Amino acid sequence: MLLREVEYARPSSVEEAIQLLAGHEGARALAGGQTIVNVMKARAASPDVLVDLNRLDGLRAISVAGETLQLGAMATYTQIMASSEVEVSRPIVAEVAAQIADVQVRNRGTIGGNVCSNDPTNHLPPLLVALGATMTIRGESGERTVSADDFFLGVYMTAVAEGELLLSISVPAAANAADGFASVTIGRDGTCIASAAACLAGDSVRVALGCVDAVPVLLSPTSSDENSVRQAVESAVIDPPSDVHASSDYRRHLAAVCAVRAVQKASERS
Ligand SMILES: Cc1cc2nc3c(=O)[nH]c(=O)nc-3n(C[C@H](O)[C@H](O)[C@H](O)COP(=O)(O)OP(=O)(O)OC[C@H]3O[C@@H](n4cnc5c(N)ncnc54)[C@H](O)[C@@H]3O)c2cc1C
Repeated sequence: MLLREVEYARPSSVEEAIQLLAGHEGARALAGGQTIVNVMKARAASPDVLVDLNRLDGLRAISVAGETLQLGAMATYTQIMASSEVEVSRPIVAEVAAQIADVQVRNRGTIGGNVCSNDPTNHLPPLLVALGATMTIRGESGERTVSADDFFLGVYMTAVAEGELLLSISVPAAANAADGFASVTIGRDGTCIASAAACLAGDSVRVALGCVDAVPVLLSPTSSDENSVRQAVESAVIDPPSDVHASSDYRRHLAAVCAVRAVQKASERS
């Protein structure tokens, strides 16, 4: 289907991008276009102005500052997979980016677009919650940071308000933490039916479930043993959706399977 007519702007600075987003009520950022263009084709959203971020090279930067990995919002999955900074400081981010869809999607899709669309089946929202990431957002009134726990508000809804831009995502370097990710997907490269990310650091066990709610569900099992992890999923207050791929009960079952596998992978690395 053809797109509805839409205005297009290609700013050359972050300030200009924010001015454009704040100055037009129906303006939306265009990153890799892998979600928004499909959503526009399906007429599920129809922004009046697309503000293309692809000229903002500064937003693609990946760096390490002290104990923190800084990922620019426009860093693509392919770039993340090839980054020595990611490999050294938090390799799970590259490992999971490599599992997203196919090479075309990985070449265009960005970490910022992935989290800003907050499709509950996306790979990165639960991972970034488990890792305790922080998002930096800028609008006309200045810059603020929001923890990943508070960033995801609902399906396609995040803490990035109209007129604002996600600039970067900060992930603590692994130090003595060990991470794991597991998913059940539709086919080899397909969408997740259930997913879980785990982070073990000392006595702390953080597990974030994907696909079972509108936002990632963070659990803190009392230990990394299988029973504790299963119990944490079983006692979570969730009502997973039912669809053609899995009933609600089956999705809850898969969530426990993924959580146990993610924690096992993390344990093997600790
Ligand atoms: C065939 C196919 C299969 C896919 N399979 C998977 C999968 O298995 N797992 C997975 O995780 N994803 C999957 N995706 C989605 C893909 O990862 C997208 O790339 C991602 O969800 C959106 O990133 P994008 O850079 O393309 O963002 P866009 O589509 O350009 O933007 C998405 C949304 O985020 C907003 N946005 C983008 N960047 C910013 C910013 N910096 N600040 C504020 N708002 C911003 C846009 O306005 C828009 O609303 C798939 C996509 C396709 C086409």
